[in-house]
Amino acid sequence: MEATEKTFRLMNNYSRWPVRLVRGQGNTVWDEAGKSYLDFTSGIAVASLGHVPPRVTKRLHEQVDTLWHTSNLFEHPLQEQAADALTRLSGLDRAFFCNSGAEANEGAIKIARRFAQKVKGTERYEIITFQQSFHGRTLATLTATGQDKVKDGFAPLPTGFKTIPYNDSEALRAAISDKTCGILLELVQGEGGVHAADPEWVKEIRQLCDQHGLLMLVDEVQTGIGRTGEWFAFLHYGIKPDVVSLAKALGSGFPVGAVLATEQAAEAFAPGTHGTTFGGNPLAMAAALATLETIEQENLLARVREKSGELEKRLKQLQQQLPEQVVSVRGKGLLLGVELTRPAADVIAYARDKGLLILSAGPQVIRLLPSFITTEEEIAHACEVLAEAIQHQ
Ligand code: PLP
Repeated sequence: MEATEKTFRLMNNYSRWPVRLVRGQGNTVWDEAGKSYLDFTSGIAVASLGHVPPRVTKRLHEQVDTLWHTSNLFEHPLQEQAADALTRLSGLDRAFFCNSGAEANEGAIKIARRFAQKVKGTERYEIITFQQSFHGRTLATLTATGQDKVKDGFAPLPTGFKTIPYNDSEALRAAISDKTCGILLELVQGEGGVHAADPEWVKEIRQLCDQHGLLMLVDEVQTGIGRTGEWFAFLHYGIKPDVVSLAKALGSGFPVGAVLATEQAAEAFAPGTHGTTFGGNPLAMAAALATLETIEQENLLARVREKSGELEKRLKQLQQQLPEQVVSVRGKGLLLGVELTRPAADVIAYARDKGLLILSAGPQVIRLLPSFITTEEEIAHACEVLAEAIQHQ
């Protein structure tokens, strides 16, 4: 977007849509002029409970009046409760709280390196990652990311990352060396085109990690906290990772990230090895606890699966109706991609003018991320607008 009088003091690192949102409620957001939009982006997989979700809002109001920040010098009852909830839901043993997805992945990478060097007493430091992946914008996480565009101009990049093709057993076996300490992957690549990992390949990764003493690091920043219809995408695959990174939906829009680890992997961190000022502050923990409670008490995982079925069915019908324009429909839960034969950007802009917010995942893939409280009517309406947008010249 060109700098206007209103935006020119902001750094120019985002190509922003020309829409100024000022209010949200449920699945609807409104711009300054009062125009409403059906939000099928959930703020990029964040507002999974819809905008201003009542339980989280209430809990945040209570916390705002009680205590905002203490630092991590103190014991922390709300972090303990959130760690209890996340370890119960994931089957992992320990949690560390931070502020974003990139920071959660930094934590995962640090655990893998320090585990290899201090716990196992080896010289291993290299992490295998995959093409088209996205892990964040810090120097380590952009190096881990399998997309050159995010690395442009940031050399020299940190060493210790090897990126190979996704879903490719041979490439993976060839990439493991006596330097490898971990394998970092998304189970559904969100930004990179909505590609799901092959279940056999994921089982093989688990076996290879066990065989070579490597940590399996699963980036669930986009897929975690119910988005795929399970609490975590790894639960679809019948494996348990050593480390899981989370952020996005964990606080329903309040910034919070987390690293979960098995007892053994968590041994990598001793006092003084890792930390963050804001991580796990009382407001963030209140938002996370209320988010987890809402999903459990309102049985939203079942709802994700039901609505995913409805959305996928309609998208597949769209593919049948428009075989020239729609190449494939894929994804898991309410993280669905529609691959087109035309640029996604034009379709997204047209839909936005018609009051529907959708995303891309690469140049020709539309990504749909409705909230867990989306309705059948909204799904039907979104698919109608999408069909019109895809056919619009
Ligand atoms: N990992 C994945 C899979 C993501 O989708 C993202 C963000 O889109 C990140 C990491 C980075 O998260 P954040 O933007 O909170 O740093």
